[in-house]
Amino acid sequence: MKENKNDLMEKIISLCKRRGFVFPGSEIYGGMANSWDYGPLGVELKNNIKNLWWKKFVSERDDMVGLDAALIMNPKVWEASGHLANFTDPLVECSICKDRFRFDVIQAQEPSNSDGTYNCPNSKASNIKLGESKHHGILSKPRQFNLMLKTFIGPAEESANVAYFRPETAQAIFTNFKNVLQTSRKTLPFGIAQVGKAFRNEITPGNFIFRTREFEQMEIEYFIRESDWKKYFEMLVGLMREWISEVGINSKDVEEIEVKDLAHYSKRTVDFEYKFPFGQKELYGLAYRGDFDLSNHQKFSGENLEYKEEETEKPFIPHVIEPSLGVDRTLLAVLCSAYDDSDGERLVLKLKPKLAPFKAAVFPLLRNKPELVELARKVYLDLKKKFNVAWDDRGNIGKRYYSQDEIGTPYCITVDFDSLTDTSVTVRERDSAKQERIKIGELESFISKSLE
Ligand SMILES: [Zn+2]
Repeated sequence: MKENKNDLMEKIISLCKRRGFVFPGSEIYGGMANSWDYGPLGVELKNNIKNLWWKKFVSERDDMVGLDAALIMNPKVWEASGHLANFTDPLVECSICKDRFRFDVIQAQEPSNSDGTYNCPNSKASNIKLGESKHHGILSKPRQFNLMLKTFIGPAEESANVAYFRPETAQAIFTNFKNVLQTSRKTLPFGIAQVGKAFRNEITPGNFIFRTREFEQMEIEYFIRESDWKKYFEMLVGLMREWISEVGINSKDVEEIEVKDLAHYSKRTVDFEYKFPFGQKELYGLAYRGDFDLSNHQKFSGENLEYKEEETEKPFIPHVIEPSLGVDRTLLAVLCSAYDDSDGERLVLKLKPKLAPFKAAVFPLLRNKPELVELARKVYLDLKKKFNVAWDDRGNIGKRYYSQDEIGTPYCITVDFDSLTDTSVTVRERDSAKQERIKIGELESFISKSLE
């Protein structure tokens, strides 16, 4: 039978809540629309994704360096980047309930009325769901609505003190370009990477953690000479394909789209779209941005952001290619790819071992036998110095296996009566459910190997 896709999304959301991956935000106060909190297992999975990304794109390479900039920057940054003027969505507003809707979504349907106007979508919804009296709101003409999340710095809420939470991590990389260049002594080509939160006042957030107003990005600006752009674009496409497979996202569910409607400064942009249960949506983007950003920052700041390597070389503004990845979307695509209840018996979260919140779980066969518990505790505490390891002594072994399978723990280690004499334990592998005896002294290298 074909998997019902929406069903899969519901199952993932339910698993996330039940096992502590993702909770609805501010839940004890009735929640807050489209905010989500990562629980004990979710934060481990998320950190593992970010660490794997940092390792692959920064620490294992000699052409990348990192950065961790402030969330709130000088508002002039957003003037220079074009966000204050152009980072907008066209919105329409209901004349009665005042709710706002994205014009592109509304426009995709036939007008409700012969004069070309649209009725408020809430007029239908409230009628069905709540039995409320139907209102006859008409939607306004579209107006531009800025997606920047505004705040005030200091005690006075005056326009002079307006600031914005960054809508992307990338701009801080450009504003630090000169500092990084001077201190890291990198020469072209090289990249600056940053992982961090970004904020957008989205009108239509939704689909669980796919689109939220507060989210986390992993971004790189890769600085190059203009003549080299095709070569390095291909290199970065290749790295992103490798990443998709290394993080455990099913490559067959990813489609690379050549973006046709390019920004004026971009010569090529590729979107990596993933077949989420709610439809095929953007997962990652790779954009060649020319020298647009650094040129603008040079113009607006008055600082010289040019580069030159040789004495004889004429100074120039480097061009840049930007791989942009969402952490939360990655986590969701990883969960969708890993979720497997196809055998009807058990649910297995087939996470790559290096992403799994726990690398192993340790059990004493019986919890009421002190000699088993003592040895099992020792095995557990020794492994815990090296890996994140779980402990479970409740219920029967079958239930413990099931419980670890659904959070993706690759190995279950059981200390039994034989262990007391042969210093070995039973190690059961998650996906195959195969068991083998392993010497306690070899457990650490056994687990390490699975993480390579
Ligand atoms: Zn309305």
